Amino acid sequence: AKHFHRGKTVLFATELADAARDRMQLLSRLRVAFSSERLTLHFQPFIRLHDGAAMGAECLLRWQTAEGQHIPPDHFIPLAEQSGMIVALGDWVIRTALRWRAGLIGRVDDTFRVAINVSLVQLIEDNFVANILHYIHTQGLQGYHVEIELTESMAAHDINSVIQKLKQMREHGISIAIDDFGTGYSSLSILSSLPIDRLKIDRSFVSGDAANQPHFGIAHTVIELATNLQMHTIAEGIETESQRDTLRQNGCLEGQGYLFSRPLDEAQFNQWLAQQ
Ligand code: C2E
Ligand code: CA
Ligand code: CA
Ligand code: CA
Repeated sequence: AKHFHRGKTVLFATELADAARDRMQLLSRLRVAFSSERLTLHFQPFIRLHDGAAMGAECLLRWQTAEGQHIPPDHFIPLAEQSGMIVALGDWVIRTALRWRAGLIGRVDDTFRVAINVSLVQLIEDNFVANILHYIHTQGLQGYHVEIELTESMAAHDINSVIQKLKQMREHGISIAIDDFGTGYSSLSILSSLPIDRLKIDRSFVSGDAANQPHFGIAHTVIELATNLQMHTIAEGIETESQRDTLRQNGCLEGQGYLFSRPLDEAQFNQWLAQQ
């Protein structure tokens, strides 16, 4: 029995070492992929629920390896954050997203927003705000063309410096959305002190048969909360008409999800726009 037990322990240690090695390998592959331009952005439109108008699109990173394998961002973004690589990668995302939005001028309403996911690691860099304002200007865009999506994890950090940066961006018209709202730990008091335009209702509160699910009560509560705080709401992960209708009836303004469109590459997005 003792022998067996020791065998287990050794196996466990080996598995840990394997996992660490796998992460290192993935990170070095990510570096190569980034420098050899194997990363792309896809775009998923979001819709005004009461009339179906396209209000903007969220940019989502895609990594397709030379062998054709798709590696989901949930796998590599955390690695990029831990290693600090997200600063360069996120900077590329911003520049690429803004260039894409600039290319849409005249083909979408002027209020069409490009929504960019930003990690806290990026945001706390000294030059973050100056850089994004510079890129917006360079592309001939205005701040109101841009929305920043942040998760609630930012509440854990140096909240005052985060608030300063958000305020600065908002003074230039950039809007701020809290992503995956309801899944993090932010307290209500922090929420009311943050300069935020929009709460993005996490898809875990949207999924299933909306009207009959207890978790939909959370979606409803988030919409009321946002209304009371004079913020807007957008629901993610809308897959069915019943989910859309229930959200709309509860006062949710905008939505995003497979019901309207999957994330699309640039050419597919152009086709989608042409059909609107
Ligand atoms: P997220 O910001 O919450 O993005 C929404 C995710 O839900 C996307 O997954 C999207 O493809 C997926 N989705 C959209 N509609 C539906 C639907 O109707 N049903 C279902 N089941 N899923 C839907 P994706 O593209 O795999 O991205 C995962 C996460 O990776 C994102 O979650 C975001 O946190 C992160 N991410 C993606 N791109 C970037 C980026 O450029 N920078 C940073 N920092 N994070 C990113
Ligand atoms: Ca997002
Ligand atoms: Ca989300
Ligand atoms: Ca998410």
